[in-house]
Amino acid sequence: MPLYKNAIASIQIGVEDYLSADERRKLSAVRNIFSGILLLYKEKLCDLSPAYDKELFIKIDIRPHRDKDGNITYRAAGKSKKTVHVQQIKDRFSSLGVKIDWTVFDQINKIRNDIEHYYTTTPEAAIKEILAKSFVIIKDFIYHEFLEEPIDALGEACWNELLKISDVYESEKKLCVTSLSKIDWKYKTLEKAKDLIRCPACSSDLIKTDDTGEYSIATSLICSTCGNPFSFEEVISECVTEVMYADSYIAMTDGGDPPHEICPECDEDTFVFEEECCLACGYEIAHHECMRCGCGLSLGEQHFEGFCDYCQHMYDKMMDE
Ligand SMILES: [Zn+2]
Ligand SMILES: [Zn+2]
Ligand SMILES: [Zn+2]
Repeated sequence: MPLYKNAIASIQIGVEDYLSADERRKLSAVRNIFSGILLLYKEKLCDLSPAYDKELFIKIDIRPHRDKDGNITYRAAGKSKKTVHVQQIKDRFSSLGVKIDWTVFDQINKIRNDIEHYYTTTPEAAIKEILAKSFVIIKDFIYHEFLEEPIDALGEACWNELLKISDVYESEKKLCVTSLSKIDWKYKTLEKAKDLIRCPACSSDLIKTDDTGEYSIATSLICSTCGNPFSFEEVISECVTEVMYADSYIAMTDGGDPPHEICPECDEDTFVFEEECCLACGYEIAHHECMRCGCGLSLGEQHFEGFCDYCQHMYDKMMDE
């Protein structure tokens, strides 16, 4: 099992990188841990590959092949050494019946990507979050898919370090979740959006509130990691956009209506059609039909005070003459 060995080594080196005093090794901690997870997944795909080619399922391009006796086997096409990327791992696990909580994996992948591309310094909170979340994925996968005790696989030193980071993170996270659930978020969209709140200063997802009752944009939040106080107003637009991301993407590619738009009242990107109002300022559509021609009015036509784009245009023209 060379991949399995490499996976474990990569995770162990990642933890050593994290513990190092050298600031430059923080990023490599993230890279090593993440590639450790991918290697574990690839090892599983090798595990499940047919006996005639134990690396078949990690090959990018697999094609059916018929020999002269009519036997069908699958073969990797081309000489390329390239192996499966994340989406292919997901597809193959799904057709092979390997169950993974991809939401957590996707979160890790997104933060990793943000760290690589958007941050000038590597934020400590984000690294801790990645390590804590990776730990859960790694230990469950080793235990369920390779039937090994994760502490034996990772070694005591690595295990204890990850456990410590994960315990601190998880217990703080629990406090955060409890405090945010004391707010009445009123809308389905915000129920989901509140789980995506991140600190605008350090991007930690350990966010608490001392407020109770119905939410507002003034709802005060505080970051458990860096202590930064901020209001819901600072993050609402970003959170709503993230909740609606998949629907927006489908609308964009398949040509449907976007699920949320800029509110004509407050200019935030938080007018959610499903909720029929703006989640930041409460604005509701005032004019539903054109008073002249009866056609339905869009959000962008609301400022004509009851006329559609076309009728307003005709009226303006008439007034000019
Ligand atoms: Zn913070
Ligand atoms: Zn608004
Ligand atoms: Zn009209």
